[in-house]
Amino acid sequence: MVKRRQGGGIGRAHLSYWSKNRTLNFKSFWKYSLKHLFRLKGIAIMKVEKNKVVTIQYTLKDEKGSVLDATEKGNPFLYIQGHQNIIPGLESELEGKAKGDVFKVIIPPKEGYGETNPNLIQEIPKDQFPEPSEIQEGMQFQADTPEGPMILTVLEILESTIKVDGNHPLAGKNLHFEVEVIELRDATAEEINHGHVHGQDGEAQHH
Ligand SMILES: [Zn+2]
Repeated sequence: MVKRRQGGGIGRAHLSYWSKNRTLNFKSFWKYSLKHLFRLKGIAIMKVEKNKVVTIQYTLKDEKGSVLDATEKGNPFLYIQGHQNIIPGLESELEGKAKGDVFKVIIPPKEGYGETNPNLIQEIPKDQFPEPSEIQEGMQFQADTPEGPMILTVLEILESTIKVDGNHPLAGKNLHFEVEVIELRDATAEEINHGHVHGQDGEAQHH
């Protein structure tokens, strides 16, 4: 930090001069390096924000603790923050998180898959289905509606109709998430353009 001045004898006066000087320099050195460190830290720690590709592991449980969905070990989930790739409650909870962060959150239906809509529970004549005799409770079908494709879950088989539920299977549920942020990177320009992730490194050749 402070170099001894070359040449010249060092008397008492000089020594005290140098030690004073050294103290000053020492302080300003730390002031400088702390500032420097903070600046570096700001760059080094990437946070979840718009246009970051976020890799997470998660477990989703219902109110009773039953696992509804989970990533498998070695097969995490990737999405782009800020592109509505995931439910709003989870996206806002992830905002500002860093790699290695682990958290739990309970997401209410309105921040998740919406409230259950009773109008989406309907009876449909059996002859509208392919092979109606094969249908069992819990089976799912895709129906084309004016609002786009809808997944129908069979609730009950009646005499001449089948009662189905067009709500998302997770609608009306409080979602208990446990999440770990595994990896973070910038989305590529193409990924941002498409609004979805192109694999781990952003270079998947899918189109
Ligand atoms: Zn794409």
